[in-house]
Amino acid sequence: MITILGATGSIGCSTLDVVRRNSDRYQVFALTANSQVELLLQQCLEFKPQVAVMADPASADSLRRRLLENGSSIEVLEGVEGLQQAAGADEADLVMAAIVGAAGLLPTLAAVEAGKRILLANKESLVMAGALFMEAVSRHNACLLPIDSEHNAIYQCLPHNYTDPIARAGVRRILLTASGGPFRTTDLAELKSVTPERACAHPNWPMGRKISVDSATMMNKGLEAIEACWLFDLKPQEVEVVIHPQSIIHSLVDYVDGSVLAQMGNPDMRTPIAYGMAWPQRIDSGVEPLDLVKIGQLDFEAPDLERFPCLQLAFDAVAAGGTAMAILNAVNEVAVEAFLNRRLGFCQIAELNREVLEALDAQPVDNLQRVLDADQRARDLAQQLLKNQRFGWKGN
Ligand code: NAD
Ligand code: MG
Repeated sequence: MITILGATGSIGCSTLDVVRRNSDRYQVFALTANSQVELLLQQCLEFKPQVAVMADPASADSLRRRLLENGSSIEVLEGVEGLQQAAGADEADLVMAAIVGAAGLLPTLAAVEAGKRILLANKESLVMAGALFMEAVSRHNACLLPIDSEHNAIYQCLPHNYTDPIARAGVRRILLTASGGPFRTTDLAELKSVTPERACAHPNWPMGRKISVDSATMMNKGLEAIEACWLFDLKPQEVEVVIHPQSIIHSLVDYVDGSVLAQMGNPDMRTPIAYGMAWPQRIDSGVEPLDLVKIGQLDFEAPDLERFPCLQLAFDAVAAGGTAMAILNAVNEVAVEAFLNRRLGFCQIAELNREVLEALDAQPVDNLQRVLDADQRARDLAQQLLKNQRFGWKGN
């Protein structure tokens, strides 16, 4: 049985599509969402989970009422406690962690502590608390499978039973591919005034709004570099970012003998999701077979750090260590939200991120409270800076 945290999101809906295609193998134990009552209701009526959770208590009340009106007696839980309960419940063996942002940390950790197989889409939880998270995975004997397409690709290109340090598996470095997002070739002067609508129109991947903006600033690739360091026990200099606009090669592993293994496929998240669900077997995901002749050409280029300063900031945060990564993640969430609400210009996302990262001291991550405190301090300072006249919406 599977629990899907963030069922109403882009990853959540793709996961349910894979479940739908393989209904003989998978049943849904729990579905969760923040406040999208009507969509979660429809999903509950179709997939008949035992439990539904709404993080927002008022939405939980609405869902209870709507389920009763539809003759359903599914139990509805609420709040972070409800999410944690659904994530750790005995009935589910698989947990898809697909809540967006820092809100995913505690529910995902609950699944780790219950020793589940975790399909990790919520990269922010690893970015914030990587050391504690990975330590909990090994202490509770959880099985962590990366769903982020790049990390899933790397996982697929590593030796099947690797448990040793990655260097002993003969890995020289990994290459994270990046599409470059919607603004890879946009005139730099024009970038200042791009709208949220343009930033969210990703050329290859339809995704939630937060990760779409992160892809447009390339903060997403920075967060993914951090994610890769924790997942595969790599040093930042062993992670290289390559722009690959077609998004066909999802990432590569470079071995010391000169072999470079890549995982390819059409850009559709149902491939890594199905891989995680069935591992070590393979199941139908609904993704179209790759037609290389039709694609014709695969291109590669180096990332331009002047265009994408957020990418450098992520590497700076890794170098600073400790809570710096939680600080960067938190200010970035505030900055993206402000941009989506037209309270901050696109290029100011990087400026706000830099100011907060530089202003707050990083501390060692020795317990979860440290991480949560750093997250809160960064959000508070970011909100305060947003009131400053320097920051604001100048576009249309
Ligand atoms: P989304 O915005 O489409 O969906 C987010 C989900 O989280 C929704 O179900 C929402 O109800 C829930 N949610 C939001 N705030 C919450 C809160 N405070 N408490 C509880 N639930 C909350 O996001 P998405 O694009 O599906 O991305 C989800 C995660 O997967 C992100 O961490 C993202 O980085 C990662 N990811 C997504 C993709 C993709 O293709 N969409 C690819 C790789 C990784
Ligand atoms: Mg990715």
